[in-house]
Amino acid sequence: MNIGRGATQQSSAPYNRRLVLDFIRQHGAASRKDIQEKVSLSPQTVANITNELESIGLIVSRRQKDLKTRGQPPIAFEINPDAGQSIGISLEPGRASGALVNLVGRIDARFEVQLQGCDRPQLLAGLLELVANLRRQANARVWGIGVALPGPLGDTELSFVGPTALEGWKDLSILDQLQEATGLPLFHSVDSVAGALGETLYGVARHLDNFFYLHLSMGLGGSLIVGRNHYRGADGNATEIGHVPVVPGGTPCYCGNQGCLERYLSLHSLAEALGMDDGQIRTPDLLDRLDDANDQPLQQWCQQAAQRLRDAICMIENLLDPQTIVIGGSAPQKLVRRLVELAQPLHRSVRGRPAPQLPRVMISQREEDCSLLGAAVLPIHELLSPRLQGVQKDDLGDMQAAELLGHRPANGGRRI
Ligand SMILES: [Zn+2]
Repeated sequence: MNIGRGATQQSSAPYNRRLVLDFIRQHGAASRKDIQEKVSLSPQTVANITNELESIGLIVSRRQKDLKTRGQPPIAFEINPDAGQSIGISLEPGRASGALVNLVGRIDARFEVQLQGCDRPQLLAGLLELVANLRRQANARVWGIGVALPGPLGDTELSFVGPTALEGWKDLSILDQLQEATGLPLFHSVDSVAGALGETLYGVARHLDNFFYLHLSMGLGGSLIVGRNHYRGADGNATEIGHVPVVPGGTPCYCGNQGCLERYLSLHSLAEALGMDDGQIRTPDLLDRLDDANDQPLQQWCQQAAQRLRDAICMIENLLDPQTIVIGGSAPQKLVRRLVELAQPLHRSVRGRPAPQLPRVMISQREEDCSLLGAAVLPIHELLSPRLQGVQKDDLGDMQAAELLGHRPANGGRRI
């Protein structure tokens, strides 16, 4: 697969470096010749970039084996899994889960804290405990912290309202305090964007350029990936699908509208239907109840949620024509699979065809780790993935990879 075209301008060095790193990561191992041919960079540029990446330890080289060619076999480059670790934090109402993740997406340690209320000192203390615990277990350089949290973010009418968002939070200045106290670079993004990035780098979307990611957690979010980048919209809140009204005069939503999709399709709506607190919904008991055909409240919720999912899939496909829709988030995989089964047959849409190359819907294989891994990706992603808009805006233009390792952005960390 041709993953992109190298740029030739002087200011495009960071872009080309990410392009080369992403190519190596995607293929597991790649020679200079592979990179030149597929990424369309000159031999000299590829040599310079691979030398640089090797010198700072991000990639390692080895002689390829099993090649029936004469002379010396070519050198292949691989991502160095021990080049560092990063901390991913997934913030949801009532809890923060964290993981220490290495450069190739292996989870080396986990920790979770309960976060009650919105008392700032208590929240900060909980997050610091989480980071300190993970840092103690690190055995390589910790590059930074990535935080995934429910959207939308910023000054919008829908930000920080309702039980599926971080209700009561006024802004993200607590993340500035976390960055200050830990001394680590911190990046944050909406959880659906982090999840989609995780799927792009390590999950079922590894070989996809264009897909829609549906993030089914306490609330419902979405992310559109185009050319391996997410579509941001004007203010970074694109595809906030949970608050699209789908039922005229339907269930009131905490956003002030009625009949929003996530009032029918989210773990919060499931907890409501079962008369449980949100915090009780992740018990193993729920998975057993799924097998009980006589459990009316649960089976009825699944039926209605599946019909909303069926409509949502058709809406997404006809609006955006993605290669596929990947469903991830903190909802248990067994529950997601049930909903997808009940949503069959799917509505007719522009993605319906006699011999599809890909299923119209794919389920994340990372289950609950999806958003966590995606969060940990944020600091790594800055180095690994080409971001053309970064070059165009020049906000990453002069940043060298080595500098980025020590970079300390302000204002809640840099939003991805
Ligand atoms: Zn709403």
